[in-house]
Amino acid sequence: MAQYFLEQARVADFVAHLLASNTVYAPHRKGSRSYAFAKADDPAAVVLDYPRTLSSVKKFFLPPREVLLNFDLTLDAASVPPVEPGNAVFLGVHSYDLAAVRRLDFNFTTGNPERNYLARRDGARFIGVSYVPDKFHFAGSVGIDPYDMTGCDMFLTKHADGWIVDIPTGEGSELAAGFKLEAHDEPKPPRAHFTQHVFVPQARLGKVMEASYDHPVWNETADACLGCGTCNLVCPTCYCFNVQENVDIACTSGQRERSWDGCMLRGFTEVAGGEFFREKVAARQRHRVYRKFKYISDVTGQPWCVGCGRCTASCTAKISIVEIVNRLIRDSERDESILT
Ligand code: SF4
Ligand code: SF4
Repeated sequence: MAQYFLEQARVADFVAHLLASNTVYAPHRKGSRSYAFAKADDPAAVVLDYPRTLSSVKKFFLPPREVLLNFDLTLDAASVPPVEPGNAVFLGVHSYDLAAVRRLDFNFTTGNPERNYLARRDGARFIGVSYVPDKFHFAGSVGIDPYDMTGCDMFLTKHADGWIVDIPTGEGSELAAGFKLEAHDEPKPPRAHFTQHVFVPQARLGKVMEASYDHPVWNETADACLGCGTCNLVCPTCYCFNVQENVDIACTSGQRERSWDGCMLRGFTEVAGGEFFREKVAARQRHRVYRKFKYISDVTGQPWCVGCGRCTASCTAKISIVEIVNRLIRDSERDESILT
C-alpha cells in the first residue's frame, strides 16, 4: 500500500480540508489535562497526539440520553423520533476504540438489531491515529496493536516531523482527494512497548474466570470500591442502559427515554418489588470483570475489554482491572489444569 506524509505544520490545513465537505468529530483538549471527542469547528483546536479521551466515540452512536418515543393519550397518538444517519468523519481514533466499535456492532446487531445505533453508525468513516502507550494502556495484551488500522479509511502513524499516512479504503481516498500529500517510503518508527500486561491470552482466561467465582479479590476490591459506576460510564464496550417513561403530572403525555446505566450502580440491580438481584459491591465488581473476560467472550472467543485503561485511570479508589485479572491468573497457576 502506498504511503504518504503529512507534516505537523499542515495538520490544521488537513482538518480544514475535511471540514469543507464533512461533519468531523475529533479529540479536543478538555481542561488542562484531559481530552474529549467533540464536533470540530476550529481546525487548530483538534489534537491528534493524546493519551486517551475521557470517553470514546461510542457516545455518538449510543448517546448518554435519547428519547425513544413521544406519546399523548389525549390525542391517542405516539411517535418515534427520527434518527439522522451519522454520515460523519471520526478523526484521531485509537485502534482500541475502533475495536470497541466493532464489539458494539456485534452487540447491537445480534438478536434484535438496534435501529437507533445502526442509523447513527451509518456513513461513519474513521481516520485512526497511533498512540504511545502510557501507564494505563494494555491493549497489546488483548491483541490490539497501536498501529492496527482495521476498520480505518485512513491511518496516521506518528513520526518525529508529522504523520505517516496510510489510505486503505476507497472512502479514505475520497477523503484525501484534493489535498496534496507527499509520497513517503521510509519504514514506520518502531512501536513503543506497553508497560501494563495481562499475563495470559483470552483463550485461557475463560478457565481462570470460571475457577475464580468465589475468589477473595471480589470482597477485597469491594472494600475500596465506592460503587460510583465511573468505570462503566467511561468504558467503550459497556452498553447497558435504562429505559424510563417520563409522564406529565396529569398522566396524559410524556416520553420514553433511554439513558446509560452501569452494572456497578446499585440501582441497576433493582427490579420490580424493590429487590436487588446483585446488591453486594463484590458481586457487581465480579460481574463487571466477567462481562469483559468471560460471559461475552465465551460466545465470541474475544475479550470484551479493549485495554484502553480508562476504568483504571478514572477510578477514584485506584482499582485496576489489570491487577484484578493478574491476581486471578497468579492464584490459578497453583492449579495446572486451569492454565494448560
Ligand atoms: S470507578 Fe472505581 S470506585 Fe467507582 S465503581 Fe468502578 S471500581 Fe468502584
Ligand atoms: S474494562 Fe476498562 S480497560 Fe477494558 S475496555 Fe472497559 S474501560 Fe477500557
